[in-house]
Amino acid sequence: MMEFLKVVFARLRAAFEAVVNPLKADPDSKSFRLSSPETHTTTIDGDVGWGHRPPVVLRCPRCGANIDQPGPRADIDCPRCVAEFSHEDFPELEVEYFVCPVCGNQMEHGQRHPQAFDVPEWATCHNCRYHWEFKHSY
Ligand SMILES: [Zn+2]
Ligand SMILES: [Zn+2]
Repeated sequence: MMEFLKVVFARLRAAFEAVVNPLKADPDSKSFRLSSPETHTTTIDGDVGWGHRPPVVLRCPRCGANIDQPGPRADIDCPRCVAEFSHEDFPELEVEYFVCPVCGNQMEHGQRHPQAFDVPEWATCHNCRYHWEFKHSY
């Protein structure tokens, strides 16, 4: 029984290494992203879902300063005044812009169903073509 498991494990390991090694051998594939701002390929890089939302810059409702929120679950703390918000307060706050997670550019964002959702539903980067979508299109 143990011998059998060893054989299975060895085979799995060989298969795994066959997949991984060619990538390791290529010094340019540290990142597995299909596109990058340097290459300007037609491949569109992107994410779907609120959990994969790009960082945003929000406007502090108290003092008007910009507040960085690096991710959808991060606290929203104003660097200028003492205002502190939870990520649950996000719909109440004004979004200045999304930050492209690939190239760092400001992204254009908008809503598709303003009656149904009170948060941005898409954001797109005109620099590297990265696109984020709240939900798959129906
Ligand atoms: Zn503030
Ligand atoms: Zn970008």
